[in-house]
Amino acid sequence: MIKIKKVGIPRALLYYYYFPLWNEFFTRLGCEVVLSPETNKAILDQGIKSTLSEVCLPVKVYFGHAAYLAGRVDYLFVPRITRVEAKEYICPKFMGIPDMLRARINKLPPLIDTTVDAGKEGNPVQCWADCLREAGKSLTADRKLIEDALDAALEAQEFFWKRLNSGLILPDAIKGIGNPEIPLYSHSKHLRIGLIGHPYNIYDPYISMNLIKKLRQLGALVVTPESLAADEIEEEAASLSKRLFWTLGKRMIGSAFRFINSQKLDGVIYLTSFGCGPEALVEELVARIAKQQNMPLMMLTIDEHTGEAGINTRLEAFTEMIVWRKKYAHHIPPYGESVHCR
Ligand code: SF4
Repeated sequence: MIKIKKVGIPRALLYYYYFPLWNEFFTRLGCEVVLSPETNKAILDQGIKSTLSEVCLPVKVYFGHAAYLAGRVDYLFVPRITRVEAKEYICPKFMGIPDMLRARINKLPPLIDTTVDAGKEGNPVQCWADCLREAGKSLTADRKLIEDALDAALEAQEFFWKRLNSGLILPDAIKGIGNPEIPLYSHSKHLRIGLIGHPYNIYDPYISMNLIKKLRQLGALVVTPESLAADEIEEEAASLSKRLFWTLGKRMIGSAFRFINSQKLDGVIYLTSFGCGPEALVEELVARIAKQQNMPLMMLTIDEHTGEAGINTRLEAFTEMIVWRKKYAHHIPPYGESVHCR
């Protein structure tokens, strides 16, 4: 009997963008994809134990998921992600993750750590196709099977992006369920909040302390960067005098600018991780544009010590302030006097 190879995928970092691609590819190759469970206390504790204290929270969480899968799978898929768009870089931590895992976690299964590098001329589809083609070679010698799996995987990923752009919140788009939130450009009587942050922060219910669910319970519609098309984000980010070469930072800036400039939202929340270098600059730029446009903005910075009660209090205060502001819109203070919570 042929043993089916188990390929582990940590439910962390860019899982939130590329799981449909990875899942379809390895499944079509005949592997069993094993996804780690949703983040929980045990996974976070394991991640904290396995990394150095100065590492950001999302990387700690990734280590916890990888440690969970070690011993349960034959291979662990940990791509070495350098550039997913030409002439830009993803955060340096992504490049080093395979090496950091090997150095810090015992009894790791073999890592499939093929490189994702769009280089100077590549594009977001091609770089993943090259990475997966190489990954496939470590699992099978059947080139046709690899190409067929790749075609199916790219199609699954494209379908996923379309669902996201229709306004579906990301976890629902991954599961293939749910209804879209009201699109950004339509008018709505509801309280409408733009939620900005890296996908592995805002969509991980444990890390974000169920931020999306809490906002919905407070009566808000939540719009996230993933509901925007890539060219909208590019267009807004291009308004900066100098091009940002951090892909995730550019996504945050572009979506923040679009949310704020659209004037269709009642407020914006920006969720960041303590210790994130690239975000330090982005936060400042977002705060400035929010102030110029008189848009309520709340920055939430999280790490493993963040308490849920404090987050709840701040969310309630922020949404109450926005409701008050909507009610007395004609009394909104002019530019420079808006309320900014930090
Ligand atoms: S971009 Fe920031 S939060 Fe994300 S992995 Fe890099 S340092 Fe961590």
